[in-house]
Amino acid sequence: MKVAAGRQRIMLELAEVDGDLAKLRHRRANLPEDREIAELGEQVGVARDDAVRADIAAQDLDREYKRLDTEISGMRTREEHDSQLLNQAGMAPKALSELQHELSGLTRRRAVAEDELLELMEQQEATTAEKTRAEAAVDDLQARIARVTESRDIAAQDLDASIADLQERRATIAAEAPAELVTVYDRQHSHGKPGAGLLRQRRCGACRMELDRGTLSQIAAADEDEVVRCEECGALLIRTHESGL
Ligand SMILES: [Zn+2]
Repeated sequence: MKVAAGRQRIMLELAEVDGDLAKLRHRRANLPEDREIAELGEQVGVARDDAVRADIAAQDLDREYKRLDTEISGMRTREEHDSQLLNQAGMAPKALSELQHELSGLTRRRAVAEDELLELMEQQEATTAEKTRAEAAVDDLQARIARVTESRDIAAQDLDASIADLQERRATIAAEAPAELVTVYDRQHSHGKPGAGLLRQRRCGACRMELDRGTLSQIAAADEDEVVRCEECGALLIRTHESGL
């Protein structure tokens, strides 16, 4: 393939624009804000789970509180009833002793239940505090996500605009460039390989491979308009006065 040496050089411009495009696309795909949003999203999930857990625990404690409270009221009613009986005169000594026994048992059990109730109230307090904390954490994290999303959108818009500019520039260069070279270049690109590189200091500018003496002298001997490709990466090897052949 032969293309005038002066016309070959435009392929380096194409390679440069593609290099810049790849960098911008990489940045666009790896915005630190996106990573932060994902991390914050995970934290929101954890905080939400905490809030739900605290809420379920609070409901369990409420049920337990009601049960215990009803039990204590029942014991108190029976104690009052027993006390009234004790105060009535004319009770048989055996019945009297049984009643006293029942009353002291009731009082003891009620004291235990009341201690349990106090403990339960402490747990309720702790659970409420945990629920409040978790819900506040959810709100705080969501506010942070909103802020980071805003700056992510701005950064993404800027990058998208730069990418669009470069794509336009690329289209202009590709339209100006020799079609047969663009075909080779694009085929290289579609295989994830560099399209073109400058031959300089015995190296391929695309893959950095050093060319051996034999290859170099072949290239030096080739016509100026002969299209040369890197044996290593397949890129169009563009020769200029910088190539030092
Ligand atoms: Zn190469």
